[in-house]
Amino acid sequence: MTPLDLLHKKRDGLALSEAEIEFIITSYLDERMPDYQMSALLMAIYFQGMNDSETVALTRLMRDSGVVMDFSHLPGPKVDKHSTGGVGDKVSLILAPLMAAAGVYVPMISGRGLGHTGGTLDKLESIPGFRTQLSLQKFRALTEQIGTCLIGQTEEICPADRRIYALRDVTATVPAMPLICASILSKKLAEGLDALVLDVKVGEGAIFKDAASAERLAQRLINIASHFGLRTIAMLTDMSQPLGNAIGNWIEVVEAVEVLRGRGPEDTKQVTLALGAAMLQAVGKSSDFKASMYKLNTLLQNGAAWEKFLQVASAQGGEVAMLHEPTRYAKPTSVVSIKATQSGYVAAMNARELGRLSMALGAGRTNLKQSVDALAGIMLQKKVGEAVVTGEIVATLQSSTMKIDEAHLQSALSCFSISTQSPKIPPLLLAKLDEHGRHELAL
Ligand code: URA
Repeated sequence: MTPLDLLHKKRDGLALSEAEIEFIITSYLDERMPDYQMSALLMAIYFQGMNDSETVALTRLMRDSGVVMDFSHLPGPKVDKHSTGGVGDKVSLILAPLMAAAGVYVPMISGRGLGHTGGTLDKLESIPGFRTQLSLQKFRALTEQIGTCLIGQTEEICPADRRIYALRDVTATVPAMPLICASILSKKLAEGLDALVLDVKVGEGAIFKDAASAERLAQRLINIASHFGLRTIAMLTDMSQPLGNAIGNWIEVVEAVEVLRGRGPEDTKQVTLALGAAMLQAVGKSSDFKASMYKLNTLLQNGAAWEKFLQVASAQGGEVAMLHEPTRYAKPTSVVSIKATQSGYVAAMNARELGRLSMALGAGRTNLKQSVDALAGIMLQKKVGEAVVTGEIVATLQSSTMKIDEAHLQSALSCFSISTQSPKIPPLLLAKLDEHGRHELAL
């Protein structure tokens, strides 16, 4: 068997056996299979798909490429949340310390920016000194002591996802369901959780724009997770416009800090609280969704979640003084605002294009060797439904690595539709799915 034989097989639409998938993962990790063959295989999977047995095998082998944590000695439940990827989605930064403050353990393994969506690791690493590559001993110790720790895939834990994830980001192979399932679930299964909550985004800025595909992805994730005995709840949440106002890395950290301090954008807060309520439900700590959201909100308002964030950031090497006083941070070298060309209401926003633009300004990668610009991004001054008058600023673009030019401004402007009618605002929380089916969320 050679990697080339298996490339032929998947290209021609045949299913791979568990032994063949194992051969691929081990060959790729020990460098017998080069990046170009893995890239071709990922593209073949993108077009040909994988059946459930292949996806379960891929998930298991990616999980077992590293260590699987055992947190069974901890006195409380272990639960995590993972998003399928959105624009302006800084929820993990808020949710991990919030849930630790609520008394559950959150050993979180996250990813970097993927496609047009941002990544928790890139955001965290924009905090000066913050380290996401920790030894497993440290990951274990901080989870035990603080209740949460936020790391990335390393050579010790999920090394297969570490390399395949980075390759998918730059080979246009992100929106492949089996690859998404194996990527997300291999990381979450390695965390040794009791339960998992998935934030499956729906809308223009999501990996899958349409509700039917997003729901299929949610069902597939729940089904694959069930093969491993991991209780999983999926929340379908709106990504037709960015979440919050900040899109980028450091500016998203600043916005997350605002929510942690009991302020910040309402949409970001509501999605965080709903995912937190689902986490409590998933581990049997509460069955009253609304009451859980209310209780978690008090932990944002009384400073408990913010205190946890400072603890974990400091333990991971972050300069907490910068979190207390974000105005001390370096300033972007290029800042340009875009203004409304007509009066009316923001009727829609193209979240996907805003994500792409933020990447183009330096917040994401287009090849494996690139590093990200912590300061690059877009600050939205207006969101869908808000009134604007001609000449009013609707968004500000910033970068430290690019000179923002007319083309950037034009693409930013084209992301906004202004209408004379006040638009209908899309609901934020669309549905909840679990092993029993789909439930409407009447909150
Ligand atoms: N998050 C991941 O970790 N992997 C994906 O493929 C998509 C979102």
